[in-house]
Amino acid sequence: MVIKGGRIIDPANNRDDFADITVRNGRIQEILPPGAALPSGEEVIDATGHWVLPGLIDMHAHLREPGYEYKEDITSGSLAAAAGGITTVVCMANTEPVNDNAAVTQYIIRKASSIGLVRVLPVGAITKGLKGKELSEMGLMKQAGIVAVSDDGRPVESAAVMLRALEYADTFSLPVILHCEDRALSAKGVMNEGALSSRLGLAGIPAIAEETMVSRDVLIAQYAGVPVHITHISTRGSLEIIRGAKQQGIRVTCDTTPHHLVLTEDSVGTYDTNYKMNPPLRHEDDRHALVEGIRMNLVDCIATDHAPHAGDEKALDFDLAPFGIIGFQTLLPLLMKIHLEHDIDFSQLLACVTKNPAKILGLDGGALGQGSMADITIFDPGPTWTLTEEMILSKSKNSPFLGWTFNGRVVRTMVEGRTVFVSD
Ligand SMILES: [Zn+2]
Ligand SMILES: [Zn+2]
Repeated sequence: MVIKGGRIIDPANNRDDFADITVRNGRIQEILPPGAALPSGEEVIDATGHWVLPGLIDMHAHLREPGYEYKEDITSGSLAAAAGGITTVVCMANTEPVNDNAAVTQYIIRKASSIGLVRVLPVGAITKGLKGKELSEMGLMKQAGIVAVSDDGRPVESAAVMLRALEYADTFSLPVILHCEDRALSAKGVMNEGALSSRLGLAGIPAIAEETMVSRDVLIAQYAGVPVHITHISTRGSLEIIRGAKQQGIRVTCDTTPHHLVLTEDSVGTYDTNYKMNPPLRHEDDRHALVEGIRMNLVDCIATDHAPHAGDEKALDFDLAPFGIIGFQTLLPLLMKIHLEHDIDFSQLLACVTKNPAKILGLDGGALGQGSMADITIFDPGPTWTLTEEMILSKSKNSPFLGWTFNGRVVRTMVEGRTVFVSD
């Protein structure tokens, strides 16, 4: 197969130019200058006017299966991811039962491969049942196919358990992904704490609920000499702590979400529960700091924290509705928006969803070099379109971006050379 005439943007190989790509046996065989003689008799995909990108890696998502299939399952999640140009989904362990043992890991992997769309890579729990007490069977889960461990959905409250978990995970070379939140400080909060939460009469989650835990975990990582990845950072303070840690040579990486880069707490004024997530949308100053953090390479990755919830759950009052929003099909459009509005190089944003997560998780992927896996997303930067509920392939429709108009759309997604999504 030949992908012809496209603009190849590949941060891993510092590439941004026009070229043709030949694919064989699921891998990239050759990258040829435009106009070069192409092998005859091949299937030709015309990518003229389109961008040819490494398939996106979403390193933080909730697919809800097993246990909460009414919100999402691996099939609907895979369809939505493929439509969003995401070829690898890293799914968190807070299913029912929790992915804290090899049997659940195997179930997820078998189910995903029988669906045969995107690559689904499970994350195992750090502690059994996400209870923060006993460490999970990390070695057996690693053999079964987990790519990292995380208790996401909640923090590891005990510093002693955290320290043992880092040392234990390190013996299996498993990356550790941390949801940093001091739950005594976030308490019953439902939005960012500040003048606005007081005015709206909603309980606040202070920035320090996140920052004290980021600070603690950076110190534990330094003491243990083990790398950590801090997920969904949402405040300027968290970024400053990570900046300082990186300057000291502590091995810490982080991601933020697309919604923390484009939205602020001001949206909560509508009491629309599609603006309720954890960590909450913060102040404009925080949002701005995170965008600059991307520009300065302090924020390593962007991950959706795709968190489907059923319509009747999100229809509850703001203080009762569950935290979380979906994100697969709006990831790339939001990166495009950040690129256009903040004048950040598109390839720098792209690195946050390709090369950088691949490196942190030790994955084969996120690049378009000769011999790379042919996980490829073809994006048409031209059209503008408006997100409607009918376009959402997830079972749940809890997106704050319904009605938004975006620039550019995914036209084809390929996993190991197989087309798993094509736009009509
Ligand atoms: Zn989380
Ligand atoms: Zn999450």
